[in-house]
Amino acid sequence: MKVRTRIAPSPTGDPHVGTAYVALFNMLFAKVNKGDFILRIEDTDLARSKIECEKQILSSLKWLGIEWDEGPDISGSKGPYRQSERSSIYKEKAQILVDEGKAFKCFCTPKRLDELRETQVRNKTALGYDGKCLSLSENEVADLEKNQTPFVIRMKVPDNGLCEFEDMLRGKISIDWNQVDMQVLLKADGMPTYHLANVVDDHLMEISHIIRGEEWINSAPKHILLYEYFGWKVPEFCHLPLLRNTDKSKLSKRKNPTSILYYREKGFLPEALLNYLGRMGWSMPDEREKFTLGEMLEVFDIQRISLGGPVFDIEKLGWLNGIWIREELSDNELKIRLKDILPHHNNLDQLLPLVKPRMRLLSDYEKITEFLFTEVPHITEESFSSLNIEKELIIKILQFTVWSLDSMDDWTKDSIFSTVKIVADSTNLKLKRFLAPIFVSIAGTTSSISVMDSMCILGKSNSVTRINKSIELLGGITDQKYNDYLLEFNHSDSRSS
Ligand code: GLU
Repeated sequence: MKVRTRIAPSPTGDPHVGTAYVALFNMLFAKVNKGDFILRIEDTDLARSKIECEKQILSSLKWLGIEWDEGPDISGSKGPYRQSERSSIYKEKAQILVDEGKAFKCFCTPKRLDELRETQVRNKTALGYDGKCLSLSENEVADLEKNQTPFVIRMKVPDNGLCEFEDMLRGKISIDWNQVDMQVLLKADGMPTYHLANVVDDHLMEISHIIRGEEWINSAPKHILLYEYFGWKVPEFCHLPLLRNTDKSKLSKRKNPTSILYYREKGFLPEALLNYLGRMGWSMPDEREKFTLGEMLEVFDIQRISLGGPVFDIEKLGWLNGIWIREELSDNELKIRLKDILPHHNNLDQLLPLVKPRMRLLSDYEKITEFLFTEVPHITEESFSSLNIEKELIIKILQFTVWSLDSMDDWTKDSIFSTVKIVADSTNLKLKRFLAPIFVSIAGTTSSISVMDSMCILGKSNSVTRINKSIELLGGITDQKYNDYLLEFNHSDSRSS
């Protein structure tokens, strides 16, 4: 039997990281078994399905490096691969089930179904259809149809007993039939529900292994029963653990960005995101955290998936992304990637080697270098407070620095460094402490690319202006103090020269 797997997204929203996660494991399983991986669009919900969403799903998966052998964009021998183009097939299959007494027409109005549900909730009894239309006679059905009463087609399910099936990861699963509803298969508008279309397509597309999220476990009995009703071979089932937020709740966009578009725009690398998704429930035999799709393929074994809810932690992903940027991208490659998200950026050649060690996301580049391109960084008195240096001393450090920089002719990183070092030494302050207020004046923070590099890039007059602005911001200097400092500065200057 040829292994054939599939991903079957519904194009009703942004492309979800969960879709990519399930797609990745389907693709891997197909590839290691020399099988095919199919992409099918489940767009039977006409009101919610959008072609725009379909396009985004396809382009996001491709961006991540996920490739399929058959799909709506490349076709294949089992198409069409969009369910909205297959509706006649589902109608015909639903009719077969009705003719064989395995499904029935249900004429209950939405109002009745709402009331039924309310009563069940109120009485705390099992939810689900009560089977009213099962007892309609052939004549009654014919009359209702003649009057064009809208109807749906529901499947019959056993009243009791157990549905047992094997899951590739979970072993034997048993679900009581009395928990299984008489599922609607064909809606009043003639469109199939997920359950009918999914089973019909998985069969016709010869899907051998259904690898999907664990939220579908409870639907498996209906699906298995449909395979049996049709007399089709039941495929293997593998329900993957759901992705979770860091608090272990189901991954939700309220707590975590879930759209692949978000990660793309923020400057996550597709390789890093795919790598991270590969770590969701799965691990390399040597437990290494960074690996490529190719490396994963070499050792992939679906049985290594562990069921303890994998946490999708954006912080951890950011960390991994930084490693990918630093270890896997040459400066030139990084430059090309940056051009995608920052098309107008200049100075890349000069800045990249300085910024790269500090980057986690591609978008960090802009954040880290922003201060170089603004008039003056946004600073308040508060910006200096974490330095733990009294204001008076900060002003003195800044003023000394201004005088020493002003006197420089040659503006290179080395010459700036030696000039500032001489003044720092003359004040008996440790260099790091002396530099901190200068750092804040130049970059607005002490965690940025080195202050020497920054001053060198900014140029002399720009650097001096920034430091002078900080002196003003901190209240400026009285004439008296200015003269005292000047005397001290000249004295120390003459001593050091
Ligand atoms: N259309 C379903 C979804 O959006 C597919 C579920 C399945 O893989 O069976 O998740």
